[in-house]
Amino acid sequence: MARGTRDIQPQPVALSVVAPCFNEERGLDRFVARMVAAAAGFGAFELILVNDGSRDKTWACIRAMAERYPQVLGVDLARNHGHQLAVTAGLSLARGARVLVIDADLQDPPEVLGPMMARMDEGFDVVYGRRRSRPGESRFKRATASAFYRVLGRLSEVEIPTDTGDFRLMSRRIVDRLNAMPEQDRFLRGMVAWLGGAQSELLYDREARHAGETGYTLAKMLRLATDGLAGFSRAPLKLAVVFACVGIAIAVAVVIYAIVGFVTGRVIPGWTSLALIMLFFGIAQLGCLAIIGAYLGRIYMQLKGRPLYLINQVVGGGPDTP
Ligand code: UDP
Ligand code: MG
Repeated sequence: MARGTRDIQPQPVALSVVAPCFNEERGLDRFVARMVAAAAGFGAFELILVNDGSRDKTWACIRAMAERYPQVLGVDLARNHGHQLAVTAGLSLARGARVLVIDADLQDPPEVLGPMMARMDEGFDVVYGRRRSRPGESRFKRATASAFYRVLGRLSEVEIPTDTGDFRLMSRRIVDRLNAMPEQDRFLRGMVAWLGGAQSELLYDREARHAGETGYTLAKMLRLATDGLAGFSRAPLKLAVVFACVGIAIAVAVVIYAIVGFVTGRVIPGWTSLALIMLFFGIAQLGCLAIIGAYLGRIYMQLKGRPLYLINQVVGGGPDTP
């Protein structure tokens, strides 16, 4: 394994760039060319391309890139582990004094690296990109993302910046601490916020995808959203208390109504109200069970302690200096 030979003679790397790749065969060469150009001038640099179980020729493309560019290190995961774990795998291999996480589809412009490096020179541990605009994404995606960040902002126990993804530059110290966090269900942007330190935002304009299609299906988006909520808030667990309070209020009102009806000798027509009350409590109970299940499932997976990801192969990573 190429990595092993490098580990024997570690050389300092000023900057590591980690890019997860899922079915990115069509735009990868353009991404690598732009990223290598953007990183020029910042000292020795490595570009870690993580193939997240792509179903197209992405891995062949990464191998070709590793032959063409000595800075490229290709990592092939055993299967599709998902974006967050692909980034996690890349971060654990990164050796740079600073590490940039960026999407491989050119939605995050590599040229933002320059301003991010300058901002970090001012003494920040983390510089995260905050999206000023996000063209080329559906209205549904923008609306749901915006709603999610608002809800998470209210519920989260740490302040997670709104309208940010995983596009961020981190210091070695933050990456080491992040790598030491063992949680299985990873919501990296929340974990980095949790780590604290001096963090700064940098506004940028997101670009439209240059090629290929989004790998984030609705199911993957929902998974990420529940990982964010369950990972950073216990508020949903308290929902049962809210339902119980509403239930008590309804019960008191119904009892008063029934007593008044009994005293005045009025027959209370019951079917609709009975059905509605039963439905309300049925839904409330099932909803609370589902929420408890979401947390319980995460405890179960965490207890198993399986490795977060499996690496098949690592290629490239020749001389460090561009
Ligand atoms: N990605 C990944 N594994 C997945 C889905 C996506 O590694 O299961 C990568 C993808 O190649 C891209 C980044 O994660 O570099 C962001 O994904 P995508 O562009 O599909 O999501 P979107 O930008 O539409 O939210
Ligand atoms: Mg994208």
